[in-house]
Amino acid sequence: MQKVNAYAAFDAGKELKEFQYELPSIGNEEVDIKVHYCGLCHSDMSMINNEWGMSQYPLIPGHEIVGEVLALGSEVKGLKVGDKVGMGWYSASCMHCNQCMDGKQHLCGTVESTIVGRHGGFADKVRGHWSWVTPLPNGLDMAKAGPLFCGGITVFNPIVLSGVQPTDKVGVIGVGGLGHMAIKFLKAWGCEVTAFSSNPNKKEAILKMGAHQVVDSTNPETLESIAGSLNFILNTTNVSLDWNSFLTTLAPQGKLHTVGAVLEPMEIPAFSMIMGEKSVGGSPLGSVALTRKMLEFCVRHDIYPTVEEFKMENVNEALEHLEAGKARFRVVLKA
Ligand SMILES: [Zn+2]
Ligand SMILES: [Zn+2]
Repeated sequence: MQKVNAYAAFDAGKELKEFQYELPSIGNEEVDIKVHYCGLCHSDMSMINNEWGMSQYPLIPGHEIVGEVLALGSEVKGLKVGDKVGMGWYSASCMHCNQCMDGKQHLCGTVESTIVGRHGGFADKVRGHWSWVTPLPNGLDMAKAGPLFCGGITVFNPIVLSGVQPTDKVGVIGVGGLGHMAIKFLKAWGCEVTAFSSNPNKKEAILKMGAHQVVDSTNPETLESIAGSLNFILNTTNVSLDWNSFLTTLAPQGKLHTVGAVLEPMEIPAFSMIMGEKSVGGSPLGSVALTRKMLEFCVRHDIYPTVEEFKMENVNEALEHLEAGKARFRVVLKA
């Protein structure tokens, strides 16, 4: 039995408190990770607040984990004790369904989420299936790598999925934890990047991270000035927007793709898609293999989320910082 020292919410919306639990003996295909850093994602907050109605308490958030392999079961492949690794929103999948056999483990019908019905990474240890415990490539900065395992792969996957070309003109809606990583990826991809943001205080930082221009999407005139020009728009916000006005900025055959979990139905006029053969889509995170490729891409192009570091013991302060909209741009907890 291994004791885990963690931080847990004991009820919806409550602050986190110290919590200890015992890990049962390790399964054949399981890996225990010693947590070095864990990113703080909006989904952690949604789970703490039970916004999606699937939280179980005590709830230990944390699903942007980097650390090292502490222990492994007898059937674990490709890892050894001491390896530097990361684990994100998903931590296990069945490994035998068509999606898993096709290398799309993130679409497995029984994929397990790290903080849904199991304990996450705001702790000194966390457990996952070997397939989702991803070795870190040499040269990756562990202090900044955590957010790549949720926010990072969430915005990297649609670039590949939608076949975005280096010659494309693209837009990113919302420049927060996810959006700022999308801008960095799309810039390195070769695209002309338009950031949609209505916060003038962020403009300078947005241009510095690689956007070619910042457009205030709340101003209809500026939207009109880029009408029909974008091949791909990625929405990273979770609020209802005037989606039709964004559809008008798409070029023919352009795609509006959302990774922001907007809870209200999205109003999409059929004619806005029909004329111009436009489409609307969405995606969760990405596959195991694509996560590995993304990490290599990050090392090659020196891409990291812009992070603010808090000590794990100050997790409540970090949560308040995020909730107040002050994060620039992703918070990481140091164990
Ligand atoms: Zn997340
Ligand atoms: Zn499966």
